[in-house]
Amino acid sequence: MEDGKPVWAPHPTDGFQLGTIVDIGADSLTIEPLKQKGKTFLAPVNQVFPAEDDVNKHVEDNCSLMYLNEATLLNNIRVRYSKDKIYTFVANILIAVNPYYDIPKLYSSETIKQYRGRSLGTLPPHVYAIADKAYRDMKVLKMSQSIVVSGESGAGKTENTKFTVFPNRYLTTSYGTGQDIDERIVEANPLLEAFGNAKTVRNNNSSRFGKFVEIHFNEKNAVVGGFVSHYLLEKSRICRQSPEERNYHIFYRLCAGASEDIRQKFHLGSPDTFRYLNRGCTRFFASKDTDKQILQNRKSPEVQSIGPFEGPAAGRPRRLQPHVRGHEEDRVVAGVLHLGNVDFEEAGSTSGGCTIKNQSSQTLEHCAELLGLEEEDLRVSLTTRVMLTTAGGAKGTVIKVPLKVEQANNARDALAKAVYSRLFDHVVTRVNQCFPFDSSANFIGVLDIAGFEYFEHNSFEQFCINYCNEKLQQFFNERILKEEQELYQREGLGVNEVHYVDNQDCIDLVEGKLVGILDILDEENRLPQPSDQHFTDTVHSKHKDHFRLTVPRKSKLAVHRNVRDDEGFIVRHFAGAVCYETKNNDALHMSLECLVSESKDRFIRDLFENSNNSKDMKQKAGKLSFISVGNKFKRILWIRVKSPGMVSVLDLMQGGFPSRAPFHELYNMYEKYMPPKLTRLDPRLFCKALFKALGLNENDYKFGLTKVFFRPGKFAEFDQIMKSDP
Ligand code: ADP
Ligand code: MG
Repeated sequence: MEDGKPVWAPHPTDGFQLGTIVDIGADSLTIEPLKQKGKTFLAPVNQVFPAEDDVNKHVEDNCSLMYLNEATLLNNIRVRYSKDKIYTFVANILIAVNPYYDIPKLYSSETIKQYRGRSLGTLPPHVYAIADKAYRDMKVLKMSQSIVVSGESGAGKTENTKFTVFPNRYLTTSYGTGQDIDERIVEANPLLEAFGNAKTVRNNNSSRFGKFVEIHFNEKNAVVGGFVSHYLLEKSRICRQSPEERNYHIFYRLCAGASEDIRQKFHLGSPDTFRYLNRGCTRFFASKDTDKQILQNRKSPEVQSIGPFEGPAAGRPRRLQPHVRGHEEDRVVAGVLHLGNVDFEEAGSTSGGCTIKNQSSQTLEHCAELLGLEEEDLRVSLTTRVMLTTAGGAKGTVIKVPLKVEQANNARDALAKAVYSRLFDHVVTRVNQCFPFDSSANFIGVLDIAGFEYFEHNSFEQFCINYCNEKLQQFFNERILKEEQELYQREGLGVNEVHYVDNQDCIDLVEGKLVGILDILDEENRLPQPSDQHFTDTVHSKHKDHFRLTVPRKSKLAVHRNVRDDEGFIVRHFAGAVCYETKNNDALHMSLECLVSESKDRFIRDLFENSNNSKDMKQKAGKLSFISVGNKFKRILWIRVKSPGMVSVLDLMQGGFPSRAPFHELYNMYEKYMPPKLTRLDPRLFCKALFKALGLNENDYKFGLTKVFFRPGKFAEFDQIMKSDP
């Protein structure tokens, strides 16, 4: 305060603004902004950070800042961004800012060449530096490596993933064999994006699924092939989108670009005519890659959709004419569109059930035709549900329960989601067939997965994504912690402990044995009559007074009034509290699942083949048919993950020695303030002598082998002394 040094104080719209402290209260500071003298405001003590002396200077690694904190980090990134330097390091982590335009030469083949074989930190921060480090580590350690890309939607995760592994990109360009395989890895991506990407309010080409792309290398460390795993395709989008968003690209491309022949065979129309499209944005893309052109330019038939079709299986005549062969994926997409147009109305009778509206009968016919189903079977399966009665403990009889209009709507949507997501699985399988490999020594994987998300309504989809991010955060913390500790050890600092707050309790809440939310969900599904409400109640009763879990406020009111209300629970994640609704409308009724898995169409049948065998399914009749996607996900998640997140990393680093400077740099910085006698010493001795002479507190810094490490803020203090002490 006395020296009037500038600080960063929180600003309602600007993140932080520069000011000076003019008064100190009990727990807040009075700040006067540098730009608006006299317009003082209050800021909480713990949100005001010291600023660097020169706020226009930038550094390639945030750890070379004199003060490393949230504000200086953001400012450094901002200054760099204004100079088109979108990449910045924090130790071994790379931060990327989305420039939203093509920075000249940033990803050129010359740039690729420059980074090849160069150690991290020797060239400006770049995603290529990370890719090359992964490659060199793989080579030296003979171990597979992974890169984790994390961030909110539109941050640039997928683009950076692509720069690493896809088109003309780093790994395949630098270390490819120059053969066809590299090309194929490149070509497969548009196919994935056609079926798994969509326009959202934040990103016109938002990936709505998580993926882990592996580039495989042989013993000689040359690219031999690739493999893509996918996680959690966003299913709700298949049936509904918010007004400014679209369904998956393929739907529009098909409407815009299908040949006249296909258009007729698939009964295609404009997006406005389909329920699954017309409640969202129905515009086609008109800029450089229009929906129409993309479909029409689909090249490499082997890659782009449509695998070889082996013809009808014995004894199962195929209803579809040969002319629709070769368009299997597109046909299913069209089938889903028609399914969405099936409308129900109350059946006038006393059954309480519903029937399919007259106007929809053609639609039903088209849908049945495209999916290889009998129209009548489809009609019955959409309007009734098969149940197994267990009355009297007897073996059980199958009965058909009529569905109400709303239930039938849900059943239809559940079917659409099941079919499309199976189709997506198939697309990924096809993509993987494009770059097969016989054997591989190691791989480099890139994980591109949605960041933490919460909406007005959050369902199981968000729950899984956020659980995943919780795990990543933990992994990240542990990883950074480990790396910091290893660095300290390498440098011989003799510091072992870094303290930080972990999120293990939140993870236990989700995946704990028996009492974790996922296990409770599994348990619920094993009950003869599983219910959303019972599941929710169990979650709450098992975790009374858990710091991370609460009842939604609305429900509390409802409980008070002794009425049922929205079901759900609130989880306090590391990134914020999210209220999850536990109502489940996505369960695919047995009868519908059986129907499609016995389709006359081989392609459709194959989509459902691996899912369940019908014997097993019949045993489970009467129960919710989704079997804990959650636990499946839990297993997948653990297979391969590495490191994401930022503020908590800063927190973690603050527990150690976040600022560091190599001896030679300190030497260059302060040489001019020193008597010649000192400057004749080598940089390390020079620094030692200097620190000794200044009588600095030994708890504030440590000497490593190559660098000096400073406790938070101490680098700057040292700098002050140097510059002020004559
Ligand atoms: P995310 O996967 O994080 O949701 P994307 O990678 O799809 O975000 O990026 C969204 C859009 O931003 C891209 O379609 C592209 O137009 C632009 N973009 C992202 N990163 C870059 C970059 N490094 N250079 C140029 N444009 C970029
Ligand atoms: Mg993406």
